Amino acid sequence: TVQGMSKEQMIDIRKRNCNPMIMKVTYYKKPVFIHQGYMQWLWDVDGKRYLDLFAGVATVSVGHCHPKVTAATEQQLKKLWHTTNIYVYPPLHEYCEKLASYLPDPLKVIYFTNSGSEANDLAMLMARLHTGNYDIITFRGSYHGGSPQAMGLTSNAIYKYPIANGLGCTTTMCPDVFRGPWGGSHCRDSPVQTTRECSCSHGHCVANEQYIEQLKETLATSVPSRIAAFFGEPIQGVGGSVQYPKNYLKEAYKLVREKGGICIADEVQTGFGRTGSHFWGFQGHDVVPDMVTMAKGIGNGFPLGAVVTTPEIAASFTKGVHFNTFGGNPVACAVASSVLDAIQEDGTQQISLEVGTYLLTELAKLRDKYEIVGDVRGKGLQIGVEMVKDKSPVTKVNQSYSVFFSPLKTFRIQPPMCITKEDADFFLAIFNQSLYNYMERR
Ligand code: PMP
Repeated sequence: TVQGMSKEQMIDIRKRNCNPMIMKVTYYKKPVFIHQGYMQWLWDVDGKRYLDLFAGVATVSVGHCHPKVTAATEQQLKKLWHTTNIYVYPPLHEYCEKLASYLPDPLKVIYFTNSGSEANDLAMLMARLHTGNYDIITFRGSYHGGSPQAMGLTSNAIYKYPIANGLGCTTTMCPDVFRGPWGGSHCRDSPVQTTRECSCSHGHCVANEQYIEQLKETLATSVPSRIAAFFGEPIQGVGGSVQYPKNYLKEAYKLVREKGGICIADEVQTGFGRTGSHFWGFQGHDVVPDMVTMAKGIGNGFPLGAVVTTPEIAASFTKGVHFNTFGGNPVACAVASSVLDAIQEDGTQQISLEVGTYLLTELAKLRDKYEIVGDVRGKGLQIGVEMVKDKSPVTKVNQSYSVFFSPLKTFRIQPPMCITKEDADFFLAIFNQSLYNYMERR
């Protein structure tokens, strides 16, 4: 037993008392019993060590139980856990100023929540109140949350329930240069491009033009003449690390603003240096959104989310009282503040860039070697490896080799941003071996 629990007890309780859906989607026939974590490593109850390349869905940003973050949490736990954010206490204000310094003007006003779904719910509400419009556009294949409101933004059948959701939410075609009909082999901002043909020439991206045409059609046919907002992740996370042609967001933002809408970047996965080249994913698209939503990496696994917007939009949101009991809680703020310090001190953004680029370049070699690897894409440590044939045998090998990554059709590699080149080599050797074994078995 570990912490007073045997494996059998935990499974029994899980079956009786936990969300049954989780049991259904448990990816491993043999469940993994995780007990402890440190930086990029996890240990199971038998003491077996795993390299964590998934980080709880890109959530553990600076490392499991990072010493600096743990110390800051401990210190705050001894001082003050909670009052309500109507009082003035140091951690909230210290953190607000610090976080704001990472965002370009005019993104300076912060609202705290406890999750990404809550942040996106709030962003929808604020966008509608500010613009006086109702309709919101998102990408097909996106995930923006599971609350009944955010579920309307989400466009992925497995996360949708047959209830009235998404009133006023419309999707547009995701500019996916790998799966989409127009190719786009040199049009995404990644060290590796697709091997698909594309008809671009002289810096003119035909695929981008077609996807923008699709957005224009959505604007002309599916929504009223004025809209509230356009939501987009800089790189789609749950959708499979999908990247768009380089100029797409810039042109899309212009069209949306012409229709009275505001532009919202969901940085829940891509923020806090994960894309390597920039602190925020949107900076890689050369745009400044009107609102940014964030969660996951902001707290390195501690529950916290935020919406950051402009003073002008914030002013439209003062007629009622918006209240959130735990949002901006002193402990959460102390944690998040130490996460920003750790990002600076450990150079995590640079690690994302260097180790991420190395991984991408090496994975592209495996793509060229094995026909089941269809696409390798991403930036920094937001990586996707899309399998193009039978997907299940490849997922099976994960656990026997002690590496975690997301085992859906596209393997997502989004580790804590403290991994090393040696860790990358360890993973690449295992992945190569798994692909080889699979091809041999066929
Ligand atoms: N936005 C994105 C891009 C996400 O990936 C997620 C979670 N996977 C959410 C929003 C929702 O976050 P949460 O689970 O914290 O509600």
